[in-house]
Amino acid sequence: MIARPGTVAVIGAGVTGVTTAYQLLKRGFDVTLFERNRHAAMETSLGNGGQISASNAEVWNSWANVSKGIRWMLTKDAPLLVGPYPSFHKISWMTSFLRAIPSYEKNTIRTVELALAARDALLGMAADEGIDFNLEKRGILHFYETKAEFEAAARVSELLAKGGLTRLPVTTEEISAIEPTLKGVGYA
Ligand SMILES: Cc1cc2nc3c(=O)[nH]c(=O)nc-3n(C[C@H](O)[C@H](O)[C@H](O)COP(=O)(O)OP(=O)(O)OC[C@H]3O[C@@H](n4cnc5c(N)ncnc54)[C@H](O)[C@@H]3O)c2cc1C
Repeated sequence: MIARPGTVAVIGAGVTGVTTAYQLLKRGFDVTLFERNRHAAMETSLGNGGQISASNAEVWNSWANVSKGIRWMLTKDAPLLVGPYPSFHKISWMTSFLRAIPSYEKNTIRTVELALAARDALLGMAADEGIDFNLEKRGILHFYETKAEFEAAARVSELLAKGGLTRLPVTTEEISAIEPTLKGVGYA
């Protein structure tokens, strides 16, 4: 039996809610989008970096990140902090995190496939609706401070390639050509 489109309530008008509501509308649903703020996208969707990128799709479930997380717990200005006090929610979250480590490769490939599809869908919606938002398609430069970090990123690139995403190392000259305001950066 094919379900007939009905009425759907979408709660939260961030990028997830707005795009979900849009897609449901296109499929014939009667949609009401609820938002507790006065305007749409006033929370996380307002304060992000504005990157429409599939290249950060590497999942975080790895032993390298576990050891980084423990070091960050002892670092005052760590970019992400996990409070040391245990709670049921925290312990069950951490257990799930650790149990997903063996699926790191498979999950990274599936995530990059999803990220590429999501990027296409988002850009498709913008094109269909004629939304101009100063889109740049020059790619995103990732910088690494050590040779080891650079080599680790190259291994991740191989994994991302299996999901259909190309990430390439670039030379100093290529960096300047992509972004002329950057001078004297590259790898030695
Ligand atoms: C510092 C930072 C930088 C980032 N940079 C990037 C980036 O460069 N590229 C990228 O792709 N992602 C980036 N992200 C992630 C990205 O911003 C989020 O994944 C995305 O905005 C989440 O969107 P959302 O719609 O799920 O959540 P939100 O944008 O937070 O929307 C949720 C909405 O739900 C509403 N809401 C919640 N509860 C209720 C309720 N009970 N009733 C009514 N309304 C409710 C809230 O008011 C809010 O408007 C970044 C995130 C951060 C924090």
